[in-house]
Amino acid sequence: MTNTPVPRREASETTPPMDTLVIHGGIDGDERTGAVSVPIYQASTFKQDGLGRMRGYEYSRTGNPTREALEHLIADLEQGRHGFAFASGMAAITAVLMLLHTGDEVLISDNVYGGTFRVLDQVLDSFDLRYRIVDTSDLDALAAAVGEHTVALLIESPANPLLTVTDIEAAAEVGHRNGLLVIVDNTFMSPYLQRPLTLGADIVLHSATKYLGGHSDLVAGLVAVRDAELAKRLAFIQNATGGVAGPFDSWLLIRGIKTLAVRMDRHLGNAETVARFLRSRADEGGSGVGRVYWPGFEDFPGHDVQARQADGFGAIVSFELGEGYGVDAFLSALELVTLAESLGGVESLACHPATMTHAAMPREIRERVGITNNLIRLSVGIENADGIVADIAQALVAARPSER
Ligand SMILES: *Cc1c(COP(=O)(O)O)cnc(C)c1O
Repeated sequence: MTNTPVPRREASETTPPMDTLVIHGGIDGDERTGAVSVPIYQASTFKQDGLGRMRGYEYSRTGNPTREALEHLIADLEQGRHGFAFASGMAAITAVLMLLHTGDEVLISDNVYGGTFRVLDQVLDSFDLRYRIVDTSDLDALAAAVGEHTVALLIESPANPLLTVTDIEAAAEVGHRNGLLVIVDNTFMSPYLQRPLTLGADIVLHSATKYLGGHSDLVAGLVAVRDAELAKRLAFIQNATGGVAGPFDSWLLIRGIKTLAVRMDRHLGNAETVARFLRSRADEGGSGVGRVYWPGFEDFPGHDVQARQADGFGAIVSFELGEGYGVDAFLSALELVTLAESLGGVESLACHPATMTHAAMPREIRERVGITNNLIRLSVGIENADGIVADIAQALVAARPSER
């Protein structure tokens, strides 16, 4: 089978604005029929007109027209040249890590997604692929962590769940000075807010399950790169290992991405309202809220970097419940906000990182990086902002020490 990625057109000098690109980027509609929506090519295989005479597709693991439309779209959105769609964010991350070899070491941000930590710690360790945890927001610490076998750097910014901001451009520079492959997990921002390839990253990847899908109805992963050689290797790994996105999920994702701009604008506004409400409670003292994490606060470490490298502060807000307040009581009392894993959907979700997203991380590492047992992570949705605030306020009352 051929594994050559479909050649990408060079990025045009007049890239449309993001709010147009999310609707018309990639392959727009159906050339043959004029349908404005890309068809769902629910097919595993494609007729060959003779030996070796394919019409562009041969087998859907290798390439599928619906998936290809999505792959072109993510390449356009990230200002890359080649895109790849996977069955999940973890399939995307695993495929990217397959670029490395036995004995290689990858540096990872100290609060990466729990699943990223887990695949390195409990799956790829069997192949002697090593990892080292580093605070990538500290450039000196990052440079010092590069060892003899270090070949790659995996950054999340803002990272999960404490929203630690890494200066992507500066970190990529440190990485490249040391010959590292620089990978950025851009899930928390989406390409609408941040485009790591333009900041020097070699590979950008997403759990498209989150903001890109946006409706909590699919699991998928996306990758984009500029370099043709890297694209060739990724296309080979994607086809060889087979963790591809199916045609229907690809189509759902294209559909979700069309509203990315309007959803993100609303997410940002709502998150700011929620963050400022929590902060006002924290500043009052004794009202159930401890430290609040949101890069939009002017005194948040990395605020200026975030303002420079991204077009918004994101819609994830984490906070510590005050002394004596009950975590379970708070989460159980929420009515509008749903207690669930995941983030980035239209509905507001709350999660408890220590026992949910970061349960795979040993307690001592968790506590060292600041993921305490009273930390709550909110994915602020696009419902009525006052309603979200009112729900959090009533749950705080229910979680008071005196109520328990
Ligand atoms: C959810 C998530 C992942 C994993 O993606 P799945 O689609 O759940 O496999 C990776 N990175 C980040 C930052 C995430 O939030």
